[in-house]
This record gives sequence, C-alpha cells and structure tokens, in this order.
Amino acid sequence: MSCGLGHNGRPAKHRKGDVVSNESLANLLKEERRFAPPADLAENANVTAEAYEQAKADRLGFWAEQARRLTWETEPTETLDWSNPPFAKWFKDGKLNVAYNCVDRHVEAGNGDRVAIHFEGEPGDSRAITYAELKDEVSRAANALTELGVQQGDRVAVYLPMIPEAVISMLACARIGAAHSVVFGGFSADAIAKRIEDADAKVVITSDGGYRRGKPSALKPAVDEALTRVSVEKVLVVQRTKQDVAWTEGRDLWWHDVVGRQSVEHTPQAFDAEQPLFILYTSGTTGKPKGILHTSGGYLTQASYTHHAVFDLKPETDVYWCTADIGWVTGHSYITYGPLSNGATQVIYEGTPDTPHQGRFWEIVQKYGVTILYTAPTAIRTFMKWGDDIPAKFDLSSLRVLGSVGEPINPEAWIWYRKNIGGDTCPIVDTWWQTETGAIMISPLPGVTETKPGSAQRALPGIAATVVDDEAREVPDGGGGYLVLTEPWPSMLRTIWGDDQRFIDTYWSRFEGKYFAGDGAKKDDDGDIWLLGRVDDVMLVSGHNISTTEVESALVSHPAVAEAAVVGAADETTGQAIVAFVILRGTANAEDESLVADLRNHVGSVLGPIAKPKRVLPVAELPKTRSGKIMRRLLRDVAENRAVGDVTTLADSSVMDLIQTKLPAAP
Ligand code: ATP
Ligand code: MG
Repeated sequence: MSCGLGHNGRPAKHRKGDVVSNESLANLLKEERRFAPPADLAENANVTAEAYEQAKADRLGFWAEQARRLTWETEPTETLDWSNPPFAKWFKDGKLNVAYNCVDRHVEAGNGDRVAIHFEGEPGDSRAITYAELKDEVSRAANALTELGVQQGDRVAVYLPMIPEAVISMLACARIGAAHSVVFGGFSADAIAKRIEDADAKVVITSDGGYRRGKPSALKPAVDEALTRVSVEKVLVVQRTKQDVAWTEGRDLWWHDVVGRQSVEHTPQAFDAEQPLFILYTSGTTGKPKGILHTSGGYLTQASYTHHAVFDLKPETDVYWCTADIGWVTGHSYITYGPLSNGATQVIYEGTPDTPHQGRFWEIVQKYGVTILYTAPTAIRTFMKWGDDIPAKFDLSSLRVLGSVGEPINPEAWIWYRKNIGGDTCPIVDTWWQTETGAIMISPLPGVTETKPGSAQRALPGIAATVVDDEAREVPDGGGGYLVLTEPWPSMLRTIWGDDQRFIDTYWSRFEGKYFAGDGAKKDDDGDIWLLGRVDDVMLVSGHNISTTEVESALVSHPAVAEAAVVGAADETTGQAIVAFVILRGTANAEDESLVADLRNHVGSVLGPIAKPKRVLPVAELPKTRSGKIMRRLLRDVAENRAVGDVTTLADSSVMDLIQTKLPAAP
C-alpha cells in the first residue's frame, strides 16, 4: 500500500482536510503479504464469489432476496422507495416483528433448547440462556414495559452493563414497537441527561451496577443525577451487584419485581418495516453526538445477511463472540440483532480483558470453544503490548474466523492477531462500517477473499462504495480521496433524530447524491479499499497531506511499539508538525532517548522523510472513547499546549491528566 493519500491525477490544492494527491508520498509503505482463504472454509462457505455477480446484476433483487431471510407477517412487495432522497424507505409495505425474528421463530423451528447466550460475568458467575428461555424473558419484559405505559413509538433509554438484561431490554422494546436508546454504561450523568432529553425517553432501564476491574461499579447514581435535570416516568432497575442504591418512590422499580411477576405469554404484533427500532448516539469522537435513527425491516435484513456472510456463521455448530459493548453500534448489530436473527449461540462477557488476569479473553475462548471472534484493533494492540506468551497459554484451536472493527487495523496488529490468536490459519475480516450504516459495508468474505493485512478491501455484495476526489470524481486504482457510498443500502440511517437538516448537511451535501462517510481512503492497484482514518484527522505538513493511520501503522511496525496515536500540531515552519504519542511494548524503556530517535528514523525510512514525526512521546495510556477509539482531538490540544476539550465520552478521563503531567515541555 502506498502512503499519503494517493495520486488523483490533478494538481494538489493543499487545503487542510482535503485529501489530495501527493506523489512524493506515493508507494512508500508496501504491504505485499497475502492470505488465501482456508480450503475447507472456502468449500463450505455460506457466501461465495457468485454473490457479487448476482448483486451486481440486480442489486434490489438481491436485497429483496436477503429480506426473505426474515419472517414477515406481510411480505414486502416494494424493495426501495428512493423517491425523496436522502430519505429512504426499504420494504415499506412489509410488516414484521423484529423480536419475533430474533427469538420466537427459532423456538418454533424446534431450536428452543439451543443456547442463545452464554453469559460470563466478570466475577466468574455464568448463565446459559436458551432460545426458549430468552423468549420467556423477552415476553415478560415486553409485558412489563406495556404495564409501565410504554407504547408503540415511545422511546426507552437503556443504561446497563454487559448483562443479558441489556439484550432482553432491547428486544422487549422491539417487540412492542418502542425505540430503544442505549447509552454506554461508562457515560456520565451529563451524557445520559442529554440523550434522554434529545430522545424524550419515557422510561430508563438501568441497574444498581456492574462488575468492572474486579469490583462493583455503580450505575444508578449517574441515572439519578441525570434525572435531577430531565424527567422520565419510570426507572426500571436490574439488580446485578446488590450494592446500595438511592430510591425514588413512585419512580424507581426493581426489574425482578415488575418483570418477574409478568406472564411469559406475549403475542408479538407486526409493525411496518419503517417502524423506528432504535436511536443510537454516535460515540462523539469528532463532536456533538448525533442521534442516529434506524428502523426495522431494512436494518434487520442487512444485520442478518452480513452476520451470515462475513462471519460464515453456522448456527448449529459455531460459538460466536463479539467483545463490543452493547452501547456501541457493534453491540446492537453484532450481539443483538445479527446473531440472534440468525439463531446463533454467542458469548456475552461483562467485564474487562485483564480481570482477574490478562488471559481472561483467551480463557473464555477456551471455556466455550469460541469459533468466531469479533473484536477491535485497540484490544488487539493491548494484547500485543501484554505479550505473546499470554494467549499461548490457552487452547485457541476452536477459532476459525476472526473479525476486526472500529478503527483501521495496523498491518502489524493484523499479523499479530492472525498468528497469535488465529493459529496462522484463521481468515481475518476487517469490517468497515459506522453507526450510520447500521451494518457492515466493506469487508473481506472469509471463504472468498484473499486478504491483505490492513485493508477492508471490497464493498459487500449489494453495497456500492468508492473513493472520490474533491470534485466527486471516482479516483482510479492507486488513487486516494474520500470514501463515499453511492447507492442507498437497507440498514442506512433514516435521519438524525429530530434534525433532518443536520442529516442532509452532514452526510449528503459534500457530494451531490452520494453519502459522505467522513473517512479518507485509498484504492490500491487491485481496486481494494484501504481506510486512512477520519478526514478531520488528516495532517498537512509542508503542503503534504499525510494520514494519521499510515504514520501510526509505521510506528506499530517497529518492534518496540504496541500502539501509536499521531496528530498534526500547528507549526510555524511546516504548517503542521507530526506529533506521535506511543505506548511501548513489554520491555522497551520510555526514558531511552535513542529509542525515540530510532522511532523517528524508522517512520522516515518506512514512509519517507516528510512523514518523520517532529516529536515522539512515550506515554502509558492514550485517550480513548469507551468503544476504544483514540480521541486525537484531545491529543492535538495537548500537542498545541491548549486546554483539553470535552472529555465526557472518554473511557477514563484521568488519562489526559496523566499524559499532560508526563509531557516534556515543547522544544
Ligand atoms: P463520531 O461519529 O461521533 O465521531 P465514531 O465515528 O467513532 O463517532 P462509529 O460510528 O462507532 O462512531 O465509528 C465509525 C468510524 O469508525 C468510521 O467512520 C471509521 O472512521 C472507523 N472505522 C470503523 N471500522 C473501521 C475499519 N474496519 N477500518 C477503518 N476504520 C474503521
Ligand atoms: Mg462517525
């Protein structure tokens, strides 16, 4: 892969944020490793290369066929209504119940005894829930919400740890046609209040607390504080840790009382395909969170299809585990809706990967015989930092497909993942998508694609993605620019909740008729797509646009570096100067001056002198969102000696203090 943002055949404009041509940086970072799909997987794959052809010949026909994966009360006759772009309606005359599709129909098909959820609590408690039991639980919760006055079209906020009740709550809402708005269990009272207010939620479902890092961590106090500013009718409280809670009589209700006494009989009503299913606020990596609205039929079609295709799920034999939090879109589409609509058996783990020891994930893989693992680059880089010997202690031979999501995966992290977790045989699917896209859009198919470390490669069958230049022209192979989606897709966001204009402005105004994803990307000579990070993060150094992703990947390819975050800081001579924050691997010494020089030179030799960071700062932690993404804007504040901006969506806000106190003064 070449560095910089490629050559688009036009003179560069050199405006900050533009992703323009850059010949001096072209073809500097070469990634030539290739991995063919394992023969047996290819032979038995759920989806073959033919799907691309089929979808190309008749895209809407292809999606109409995928919609038949679901059980509809009224089959749709119209696939897409795009008469009022960018407001799409998919399968609009169809009617279905999403929860019925995720639960009841598997029981009716005779699979009630299949485990739906293997829950693993952080303290080591576990619970297996079959589809038949899940049906009872979801029915009870649906009856409870109805008793609390929740009706079709209402909104319910969910603020829970990673426990089965999170999934049950989401499905109970879906079952009665209410939209859920899940708020990360790590978010503050302020974030909860804003989300409750924006969505005008009627009920909040929370818990006393959850287990994190070996101890109970309270959740309800944040809800109580939020509710001093905004109001809801009822708060339903799951008892997880049995810690003390403050109680507001008349408003607060225990889940085990109210849900516990309900009947397990509940008849799911069919709703229109465009019935709102959920609102999810984006993680806020770049600014004020947006309430992304997803609806039912199209969303479930694509969540189900992509889960089947990208992970090659065989529901009778696979044990699937997605390590995401339910508060992130990955938890929505690839814990709740995709896997359950497909009748999967999956693991849900409550806690952190290093509790009580750094091998916890691998112990879980071994315990449940996990066959498909879906995690994030941030986790993979952390495991690299902890050392190869940790996963080596466990039997990971059950694994057959590995997935990655959330950020570009550095080629070295990809190789580490394949070798140390995947036994050098598992295909890796690097899946690009967003809260807004609802489901995976660009990814290898494990039985089809010859994979390339660091590339998400190709739009899935039925999806139209490409890379364009400033003038909205598609760049040729080898070119770089902006990632866009050129045709509507079933699980696309329908709007930003309550703000149609912001929906149009944010996604549909930059390039006429195309969805602007906000990510920089490049096409290689085979036409495969490489994601280069957010357009907002692109650095402009001496007139050259340089992607943060590529400098970070160059740093991670040095044996001493586990993780890197790179920002452009204002610089009088060069416009912006590259400042790199690095987390070192195992034994490397942060005080070693020669190591810093070595890292700078390493980047220079991999990417070219222009990409050589001006400063390299070893740090113990990086600021990350709860979903594990690096918050570069905060590092930019540090690098430019400014007061640090809004840290409310950080997983751990003390990290910024730590980084600032460790920092040497700017040279
Ligand atoms: P916000 O939009 O509020 O700033 P966010 O973009 O982090 O938050 P998400 O929707 O969870 O919220 O993340 C989507 C983004 O994550 C993508 O736009 C892209 O930048 C990045 N991303 C996700 N998967 C990949 C991947 N496989 N490769 C590269 N980047 C990825
Ligand atoms: Mg985003």
